[in-house]
Amino acid sequence: MAVTGSPELLIVMSAHATPDQIEDVVARLDEAGCAAYVTEGKDATVIGAIGERELLAALPLEGFPGVEQVLPILKPYKLVSREISPDPSVIDVRGRRIGHGWFGFIAGPCTVETRAQTLETARVVAAEGVTMLRGGAFKPRTSPYAFQGLGLEGLKILAEARDETGLPLVTELMDPRDVDAVVEYADVIQIGARNMQNFNLLSEVGRAGKPVLIKRGPSASIEELLMAAEYVVKEGNTQVILCERGIKTFERSTRYTLDISAIPVLKHETHLPVIVDPSHAAGKRDLVLPLARAAVAAGADGVIVEVHPRPEEALCDGPQLIPTAEFGEFAGEIRALASLMGKTIG
Ligand code: PEP
Ligand code: MN
Repeated sequence: MAVTGSPELLIVMSAHATPDQIEDVVARLDEAGCAAYVTEGKDATVIGAIGERELLAALPLEGFPGVEQVLPILKPYKLVSREISPDPSVIDVRGRRIGHGWFGFIAGPCTVETRAQTLETARVVAAEGVTMLRGGAFKPRTSPYAFQGLGLEGLKILAEARDETGLPLVTELMDPRDVDAVVEYADVIQIGARNMQNFNLLSEVGRAGKPVLIKRGPSASIEELLMAAEYVVKEGNTQVILCERGIKTFERSTRYTLDISAIPVLKHETHLPVIVDPSHAAGKRDLVLPLARAAVAAGADGVIVEVHPRPEEALCDGPQLIPTAEFGEFAGEIRALASLMGKTIG
């Protein structure tokens, strides 16, 4: 049966490739059930390969003698792409929605430190009409000497805050060994920036069947973020939210550099909702509102921010935390701008 379709790969042969080397590549493609279209140019021969993406990806074509370059024609992500699903996805988290006009407003503690701090923060953000509560029980810390989070005890405190406020809970999972515990308590499983390319963890949450929030790694490209989402969706879990949270650049005046352009680029490439974390990008509380405004104006489907009753006492990320006393003003600005952008708070 003839293999039809458009080429997935272009195999550029070196100018010195022999006819036998070209024939070997064609024979290998044929053996794998893929079709090869050979174009002899003035300087080099190019072979277009048509076939199943997974079959082609498994062929070690770069290593063949006489092969100069293997160029993928189609984007490497498929299930998350707009080509597969042109309409934007809506992620429904226990009745709260994100995407396709629904704005996700996620706020809460950086870290669960105490029951009192968590409940106090949760009550303030709930009163301002946020859509979900965030909070970390398992914390990814650069220093092994820094506070690592309360673990299971933290999850229980978050569950109490969720039960009292009715807000769905977004919390981070770092270790595949904690999947069951986090799945039991979380409504959205957060994959943190540092674990964005922990592929086993991504597959694991893909199988867990709960909505997933994937944060962009500080040194990850947009394509790598989309490939991380592809891992989750490939397991059958389409409930994925992407989050831009700042990338590493040479600039030192902010903690990271918020990549505003990632928002329209992602929204062009994928049907998945895109939210922004201005807190970790800024690293400074005075910058959180301007960056959040920029994110909403650029078309983000939501924001996720960190709030604390007394940031000066916080065990993690103190300088970037919005004091609860100032959250009302912050929330008012976000609501107004989201509405100006035609979004409805989900
Ligand atoms: C967080 O959101 O709690 C966090 C640690 O953020 P990031 O993974 O983006 O650094
Ligand atoms: Mn934090």
